[in-house]
Amino acid sequence: MAAKRPKFCGWGYEGEGLTPSEHEMVLERYAERFGVDGFARIPQRTRDQLDLHPARIEVPAKLSDFCSGGDFDRLTHTYGKSFPDYVRIYDKDFTNAPDIVAHAKEEDHVEAVLDWATGANVAVIPFGGGSSVVGGIEPAVGGNYAGTLSLDLTGLDQILEIDKTSRAARMQGGIRCPDIENGLRPHGLTMRHFPQSFDLATLGGMIATLDALHGAAQLDSHPEALRQAAMAERIVITKSDLAGRRATGALRGRLAHPTTAPTLFVPLATASCCQSG
Ligand SMILES: Cc1cc2nc3c(=O)[nH]c(=O)nc-3n(C[C@H](O)[C@H](O)[C@H](O)COP(=O)(O)OP(=O)(O)OC[C@H]3O[C@@H](n4cnc5c(N)ncnc54)[C@H](O)[C@@H]3O)c2cc1C
Repeated sequence: MAAKRPKFCGWGYEGEGLTPSEHEMVLERYAERFGVDGFARIPQRTRDQLDLHPARIEVPAKLSDFCSGGDFDRLTHTYGKSFPDYVRIYDKDFTNAPDIVAHAKEEDHVEAVLDWATGANVAVIPFGGGSSVVGGIEPAVGGNYAGTLSLDLTGLDQILEIDKTSRAARMQGGIRCPDIENGLRPHGLTMRHFPQSFDLATLGGMIATLDALHGAAQLDSHPEALRQAAMAERIVITKSDLAGRRATGALRGRLAHPTTAPTLFVPLATASCCQSG
């Protein structure tokens, strides 16, 4: 069976969504709510209407098996799912489209990309479910890089180990919420984290929204983030160039403490679970 492809504009997967009558119902309700007769409609953008800037970089041959410069990949890895993101899609603004999308299927792929990108001055943006609503996956990195690469981690989607006694599951960072719950259910366990973005969001995206810029605030305000991230097994810190040395150092110091949590790169994590039922 062909893998489902997330939509590049809109929530969910291609071929899924509201029926025409559901659309009408929603628009009628909005019209009623805002006291207007109707709305001017802008047709949904299609891929062939959108121009992308030519890619500025090429990956070396050793990365080419899992990297792509194809339009669909670049379009689907430009934006998250916020209202401003949708506005820019309708505006056909893909200025920040990544030059390359890498589909990591094993941890070695992550390392190989980071090794190459560091030497080539390429900005790497981790990409999980792409459901960020704060611009977290948009390759908007300024002009100091030779190019940008979106590192899609959804190929790292396995549960490697479940320890029922300690209620801990060791999983790869790109696994999506439904696959986590499907894997835990037979063991009587659940993550008990059901964001509205459940269908698309990944383990890494849920943990790593603690980044070097916003990590400390996130740890302070979300105990569950702290609990999950504190169990992460291997972490490589990214976005430190954006956060600066001082903030990154402070976060590193905090992460050294056993009750606080790590930040970014999550190829693999151990998540704490709860008894279901
Ligand atoms: C309709 C909708 C409903 C939502 N509901 C909720 C909700 O109920 N609760 C909630 O908390 N949030 C919610 N969100 C926000 C969003 O879904 C969450 O922030 C989610 O955790 C993001 O996960 P993701 O896998 O989609 O990450 P992405 O959007 O792909 O990435 C988020 C950030 O994490 C980084 N990242 C992703 N994966 C990794 C990795 N493996 N290693 C390192 N960095 C990584 C990215 O670079 C980015 O900075 C919602 C969003 C939408 C659009």
